Amino acid sequence: MARRTKIIATIGPASESEAMIKDLAEAGMDVARIGLAHGTLDEALAKFARVRAVEASLGRPIGVMVDLPGPKVRAGTMPEGGLAITENDEIRLVPSHTDPSTASAITVDHEGLLTDLHIGDLVTFGDGAAVAVVVDRLPDALSARVTHGGLLQGRPGVHIPSDRLRLSSPTADDLRMLDAFVEAGVDMVAVSFVRSAHDVRRVGVEPHPRGPMVVAKIETRAAVDNLDSIIEASGAIMVARGDLGAEMPLEELPHLQKRILQRCITLGRPAITATQMLESMVSAPTPTRAETSDVANAVFDGSSGLMLSGETAIGHDPINAVATMARIAARADIEFDYDAWGAKVHQIASTMQPKMDDTVTNGMTNAAWRAAQETGAAAIICVTRTGFTVRSIARFRPEAKILGFSSDVQTLRQLKLSWGATPFLLDVDYKAPNLVARAVELAREAGEIRRGDLVAVLSGSPGYPGQATDTLKLVPVV
Ligand code: PGA
Ligand code: MN
Repeated sequence: MARRTKIIATIGPASESEAMIKDLAEAGMDVARIGLAHGTLDEALAKFARVRAVEASLGRPIGVMVDLPGPKVRAGTMPEGGLAITENDEIRLVPSHTDPSTASAITVDHEGLLTDLHIGDLVTFGDGAAVAVVVDRLPDALSARVTHGGLLQGRPGVHIPSDRLRLSSPTADDLRMLDAFVEAGVDMVAVSFVRSAHDVRRVGVEPHPRGPMVVAKIETRAAVDNLDSIIEASGAIMVARGDLGAEMPLEELPHLQKRILQRCITLGRPAITATQMLESMVSAPTPTRAETSDVANAVFDGSSGLMLSGETAIGHDPINAVATMARIAARADIEFDYDAWGAKVHQIASTMQPKMDDTVTNGMTNAAWRAAQETGAAAIICVTRTGFTVRSIARFRPEAKILGFSSDVQTLRQLKLSWGATPFLLDVDYKAPNLVARAVELAREAGEIRRGDLVAVLSGSPGYPGQATDTLKLVPVV
């Protein structure tokens, strides 16, 4: 069985050449993530252009997700070789946007540092590399005691509890950079530190597929509280474990991951599990056993996609990291309990009250899942303009292949994030009388189905108001 769970790989200094991007795609990268937290906008746009060039040379879609950093606070550059801080050390935190950090003062690029943080607040560096608690507020600095020591390197992120931070996301800078990427035709935009559906709507792009699909990163306490409305306002979500793990007690993280994924998938949106999945591979040739299990368990939890960050951005062997993740995910896909997941979503779906315009398509995918299961159909072919039908059938995690046919290339690229979906370019009009036959023929030519197979085909009839998917056919392949 081909891998069903998708892989998102972050493009950084270790992987930004065209040759590396091509190798990443061949190793299994479905979506390339371009972060805007480091480097210039022009450098980010150049990476984007290189991914598009690789896509053209390979002749199959690669999704591109641009990631808006939001009000991400960072420490000033650490001394050469890093700064080691040890438990019970007293450290000084000083606000500065320009000065490097030294052993006597760690600079933090947040103006409100002295007023926003209170005595007793936890400050986490670099996704948990070290943690300190604020013990005193001095006229020009905060004094903090290290509770977990570690080595601070480069410009580590500084996590300040989000309800202390009086900055909202997306920032004006985020929106300015997003404009350039929308102009360039980016496929997905991830938004950091959202707290409400209102934050997600402030991104303000055209609904996908015309605009980029909005991926809300769940990494604040408020986002967890407002989960359903954020999912509703988003095209997909990311369980951003790096910041979420600093924001919530760590022991909550595995359970939050399960809850967020399940809610999101049930509502028909792709969900990504992110951060430190194969962290040790930044420098090691194989992952730890714990990381290997984490990747497989993230598949069992229902992740649509798994993300690599530092592993591919700054790691010593990005290709190996993607290939390793692809192998673990493909193996876990075989063990996944398809019937149990489908039955559960089916049960939840029957108690939900979906919006009218989604009801018909969701009802049809529900029927298609049952029909495919009962008949042992080899594939579920979805003819889709926006990709909605594909994401709707993916809710159920059918064992049958999901083949998404669209004449919109933006839709095809966005489907690279959707669990189990293989995108195909449709070369006839949605109203063509031979639409279903043509999609089946293209799938057969691509080697996805063969003579003797039975396939389920979902499509919309031309006259249906609102363009819902209203037709299910079971077609023998001849
Ligand atoms: P980041 O987001 O890598 O942009 O911080 C992911 C996370 O917080 O896990
Ligand atoms: Mn984050």
